This record gives sequence, C-alpha cells and structure tokens, in this order.
Amino acid sequence: MNPALRHDYLAALGLETWVARSAAPSPQGSAFREAPADREAPADREAPAGREAGVDWPDLKARVAACTRCALCSTRTQTVFGVGNPQAQWLVVGEAPGAEEDRQGEPFVGRAGQLLNSMLRAIGLKREQVYIANVLKCRPPGNRDPSASEAAECLPYLEQQIALIKPKLMLAVGRIAAQNLLHTEVTLGRLRQQVHHFGLSRVPLVVTYHPAYLLRTPTDKRKAWEDLKFAREVCARV
Ligand code: URA
Repeated sequence: MNPALRHDYLAALGLETWVARSAAPSPQGSAFREAPADREAPADREAPAGREAGVDWPDLKARVAACTRCALCSTRTQTVFGVGNPQAQWLVVGEAPGAEEDRQGEPFVGRAGQLLNSMLRAIGLKREQVYIANVLKCRPPGNRDPSASEAAECLPYLEQQIALIKPKLMLAVGRIAAQNLLHTEVTLGRLRQQVHHFGLSRVPLVVTYHPAYLLRTPTDKRKAWEDLKFAREVCARV
C-alpha cells in the first residue's frame, strides 16, 4: 500500500507509526502460533445444516427474517442478517446488533462500525470487500451479553452463511464473539495472536478487540493493529 495512504489509515486508527512484528518461527516450524486443538463443542459434532440442506441466500435470509427460535424475536425491531461480499475472503464476526443496527438492519453501523471500517482500511480492505455478521442476528435488550442458549440457537445461521461464503479467514471481534465461536471461556488476551479454527469447516479464525472496546480504551489500538497484521498474514498463507 502507498505509504502516505497507510499513514492516513493508521492515523484514523489513532496510530501514527508501526513496526512489523518479526515472524519468528513457532515450535511447529510455522510463522504462526497454532492454538491448541479447539475444544469440541456440541455444534461442532453435527454437520452445519446449510451444507446438508443445500441452502441458498434467499432461503437463508427469509428463514432468519422469520426466526422465532429464541425470545429475542419479540423485542427486536428486525433481524440483522449480515452485509458485504457474498464471496468474501474475510468474514468479520461481532457479538450482536446494537440499537442502531436493530434500527437499520445492518451490522456495525454505529460508532463502533466506523472504527471497524477504519481498522479494515488500515489493512487495505474496504467494508464492501469483506462480509460482516454477528453471532446473534437479533439485538439483546439493553445490549446485554447474549445468553448461551441464544447463541446456540443462532449459530447454525452463521454456519450456513459460512457454507455459502466459504471465507479464507474469520476475524472474531471482541471477547463475546470469540468465546461463542470457539466454545471457550479463555480470555481475549490469551486468544489473540493465535490461529484458531471454527467449527467443522475448520476455517482459520483470528481474534482481536471489539471496536467499541477500542473506542473506550484507545491505548489497546496498537495491539489491535498487531492482530490485524497477523490476520492478514494468516489469510495470505491459506
Ligand atoms: N457490536 C457488534 O458486536 N455488532 C454490531 O453489529 C454492532 C455493534
């Protein structure tokens, strides 16, 4: 990327300079630290319904829009399916829609969404190039954390989106997304800078901070930048 342009993007992230992380070989001989085998979770044992049922986008969108699998259907304004390039290499996954997303029907449209766009631009990706979705398709009232059962009911929809998109890389933003996708309670600090794999499809998955957290804690933007570069390296090698 043009250095001046990169400087502008980093400035938008609140980062003026960066130093490339040295690609020290891991004990496995790879430049990347592989996470220990992800714990097998109930959702991992069954083939994602999408592939079995030969799901297509219009059918999946209609089923999500009409979903009543959990109580969030009675408090949502509308479902928030996901947005972006249906053939994207990158699938960004957040936690759940907030108030603005619930109103507009699109993920990451508020202030956190603006920062997410800047984070993507910093590694040379336009919002339209990637696909953006959430663990939950409906807003939990008061922006509370998703419950385990809500996530379990909703994750098959994400599995089906993954079956259709076939991304090269998933970027989980924030602790809630990461823990639900990986079925773990390990802290975000320990999940970042490693290559995990999602579900049966084994899509490589990298974890970073949620942009809403970064708005509150800008001092961690530098670590997020390291994560994004790491994710870009992983994507280049799969
Ligand atoms: N936070 C999320 O995790 N997802 C959104 O879509 C918006 C805010």
